[in-house]
Amino acid sequence: HNYNVTHFVTSAPDIRHLPADSGIEVAFAGRSNAGKSSALNTLTNQKSLARTSKTPGRTQLINLFEVTDGVRLVDLPGYGYAEVPEEMKRKWQKALGEYLQKRACLQGLVVLMDIRHPLKDLDQQMIEWAVDVDLPVLILLTKSDKLASGARKAQLNAVREAVLAFGGDIQVEAFSSLKKEGVDKVRQKLDLWFNT
Ligand code: GDP
Repeated sequence: HNYNVTHFVTSAPDIRHLPADSGIEVAFAGRSNAGKSSALNTLTNQKSLARTSKTPGRTQLINLFEVTDGVRLVDLPGYGYAEVPEEMKRKWQKALGEYLQKRACLQGLVVLMDIRHPLKDLDQQMIEWAVDVDLPVLILLTKSDKLASGARKAQLNAVREAVLAFGGDIQVEAFSSLKKEGVDKVRQKLDLWFNT
């Protein structure tokens, strides 16, 4: 697929208001500030497809982008804002879990984690939910440019080792929007999931 022609389709306030469960979707999830918006922009070679640096605590929408007819990238709300009330956090988590478990057109989940702070509780929760429903996962260790090459490789290996415990189909790659590292790996995986 040519990801450069990806365009915004619609936003939904929650999973109940998503468009029809048809076609093929790949979802992007991560803690707030993990670099998800930057990664979506890098992946699609666009400056502002996904908006970066959103206001913490604001109710976030699920944004849907279309690569081509019936082929969608789904930008899930960032999780883990410290300032968000517990009640709201629980609601987000419940909605995210429901989406992963019930969305039939979902073919894969991309989980973005800052390479310096991988596998936080909520990241692990997302991965568990995906593995539970046999959904393949691509983990991107973002902002890889923040580590020197030796430390970057060590962290990549450590996370690859750690995720073996989840079982399931999980691939782990280093990614940098700044240095464009890992972009081809993501596109290859998306092509596989979109079956092209
Ligand atoms: P989101 O909240 O997950 O959508 O994260 P953003 O894409 O808005 O990025 C959060 C912050 O990390 C911003 O200040 C970005 O400039 C920065 N950032 C994102 N990707 C990279 C990267 O690849 N390298 C570096 N050094 N900084 C990045």
